[in-house]
Amino acid sequence: MIIREYKCGCKITSTKNYPSIEYCPKHKAAPDIYEALKEAENYFVSMKAHIPSHGNTLGMVQKALAKAEEKEEDEILMPYSSSIERKE
Ligand SMILES: [Zn+2]
Repeated sequence: MIIREYKCGCKITSTKNYPSIEYCPKHKAAPDIYEALKEAENYFVSMKAHIPSHGNTLGMVQKALAKAEEKEEDEILMPYSSSIERKE
């Protein structure tokens, strides 16, 4: 039986009183997305001297990774920290 269903499609179900999570496709792919993003970060960092205009993309990648790693913003190594918008 479905205990809770999220907007994304993830479901918390229960079978014989054992709860389990059925992930939606996006959240099922999260570990792969995370690994791909780590690779993208390395790529952008290695290319930053050649393509300076991608600074915001790198910032977004690093922000997303930091969120996944539960890091505080000041723990993030940001070669382009000046290009990252801070909305507080
Ligand atoms: Zn989901």
